[in-house]
Amino acid sequence: MKSLFIIFLFLSAGLFVHAAEINVYSHRHYDSDAVLFEKFTKETGIKVNVVKGSADQLIQRLISEGKNSPADVLLTVDAGRLHRAKEAGILQPVKSKKLQQNVPPSMSDPDGHWYGMTVRARVIVYAKGRVKPTELSTYEDLASPKWRARIAVRSSSNIYNQSLLASIIAANGPDKALSWAKAVRKNMVRAPRGSDRDQARTVASGLADVAVINTYYLGILANSTTVADREVAKKVGVFFPNQKGRGAHINVSGGGVTSSSKNKKEAIQFLEFLTNPQSQKTFGEQSYEYPVKIETNRSKLLESWGPFKADKVNLSVLGTKNSEAVKIFDRAGWE
Ligand code: FE
Repeated sequence: MKSLFIIFLFLSAGLFVHAAEINVYSHRHYDSDAVLFEKFTKETGIKVNVVKGSADQLIQRLISEGKNSPADVLLTVDAGRLHRAKEAGILQPVKSKKLQQNVPPSMSDPDGHWYGMTVRARVIVYAKGRVKPTELSTYEDLASPKWRARIAVRSSSNIYNQSLLASIIAANGPDKALSWAKAVRKNMVRAPRGSDRDQARTVASGLADVAVINTYYLGILANSTTVADREVAKKVGVFFPNQKGRGAHINVSGGGVTSSSKNKKEAIQFLEFLTNPQSQKTFGEQSYEYPVKIETNRSKLLESWGPFKADKVNLSVLGTKNSEAVKIFDRAGWE
């Protein structure tokens, strides 16, 4: 009898260890994440195993692993990609009161396949001294001839630009989106190349006067160990476009529970943890991203850029209009 009891204890301990682990496939590569994952383990006893890769690699891997995938959670950036993951059937719908409290409806999939975790605004940065903020207004205005040979922006293969164009299609329709893309292409100082940070460097160097980049890259530049990058951050100003209209284009990084998850409860707990107010603050301080409730931002640097109005279009639209955006970029000759 005693030995049976010991066997029982042994088995239940084994079960416990098995359940108290989650496998996370993550495209994110920020220090904030490691800090938060560790804190989550401390608070819950649930170990977090992370597999890193590019978003497309991880989505492909989840598709080919199918039901046998060991993954419980997929974390990635851009609502367009989260939508792709949903469409590929690798995420499952999740309902949680806490997630619904933590994440505004416009920042999550209407069916609960994914939830936003952090927000980034795609803004205009301008050369302080050469451009006055009063000369800037909207994304649409970047098509004006006054910006001829003055704009730096990256390639159309980049999903951030695809999502920006998707938001413009949603706001203005495909025809106006096409003429916009054509005109902006004409206004570029050079064929698109490089990263968002490179566009800011191009403005700081004097080659371009304005660029379109995600906000957190300015945070990364401002806090860089490289003097030259810190100088770049000082030379450019941040402008939130479309403040008198629909608001600045924003996007999320976010996550969902995989269809294959064997630890659904723990996976949900993990997403609830990452979206709770304390974790949201950590993202702002360590990776310069906005919390999903933008107005609750308490990061000093983000505060210094000022408050802004964000486009309230449901972010799943960025996914549903993605292929149309890619086609329009093609037709516009935006490489
Ligand atoms: Fe990025």
